[in-house]
Amino acid sequence: PSEHKKKPSWLRVKLPTGKNYLHVRQLVDKYKLHTICESGNCPNMGECWGAGTATFMILGNVCTRSCTFCAVATGRPNEYDEDEPRRVAEAVKLMGVKHAVITSVNRDELKDRGAEIWYRTVRAIKEASPETTIETLIPDVRGSWDALYRMIEAGQEVVSHNMETVKRLYRRVRPQAKYERSLEQLRRIKEYGKRTKTGIMVGLGETDEEVFEIMDDLLECGVDILTIGQYLQPTKMHLEVVEYVHPDKFKMYEEVGLKKGFKYVESGPLVRSSYHAERHVNV
Ligand code: SF4
Ligand code: SF4
Repeated sequence: PSEHKKKPSWLRVKLPTGKNYLHVRQLVDKYKLHTICESGNCPNMGECWGAGTATFMILGNVCTRSCTFCAVATGRPNEYDEDEPRRVAEAVKLMGVKHAVITSVNRDELKDRGAEIWYRTVRAIKEASPETTIETLIPDVRGSWDALYRMIEAGQEVVSHNMETVKRLYRRVRPQAKYERSLEQLRRIKEYGKRTKTGIMVGLGETDEEVFEIMDDLLECGVDILTIGQYLQPTKMHLEVVEYVHPDKFKMYEEVGLKKGFKYVESGPLVRSSYHAERHVNV
């Protein structure tokens, strides 16, 4: 069990402080926004918020899914905030970020999966900050391809959809998702002409061979960018950490991924899909 497993030194991070951090904190509160940084207990808040950046989570902070690794609350969402796109755009503008990353919860109960709010949010950011590039980390649309195309046609530069784990662990880690369906979503994003990105977590008991297998599957779909990071257990109620993967192994994954053909691989213990995202715009 993970409580017997001590966190290794390479996972220690700085606590969030400083002027930029406070500025981000104030904007998030003032505009009543959610961030995956907070909702996901991200260990990089000190670094990212300290650098004046954050990843906004739209469409509320209650998710229709119950992925066993994720700290976001599961339930029946009631938030459908037509004004959210404007507030996100305003906050992005005041933060002055060159590259904005937006994500959302899953809204399986909505016919359009939240695509309209997605579309409007990207448009609002582009209008308020024409120089800012955008990455949208979108949810699984459960095969609603019309919703997918609406989500990605607003002019964002990068579209990501996270696979999260290897094929064998899907039922345990993403019970409402399907490996093949998420791959198809990525294939369609690429075919639509978007720079396509995905992320996985390691430390859930996957083997090297399984990691190489998902790399091959992703490359076959045309995925450009892969992020690999350590899974951390948000609370005792969540899936246990099987292993704290050594930094050398992350390096090895990166080398293998690049050799196999990804344009960019960001791999390291603290890597999250939105970590160093500005580096993924022009690969
Ligand atoms: Fe937020 Fe992503 Fe940075 Fe974590 S890595 S603090 S989720 S922007
Ligand atoms: Fe968390 Fe996303 Fe899964 Fe919802 S769909 S539980 S937000 S990982």
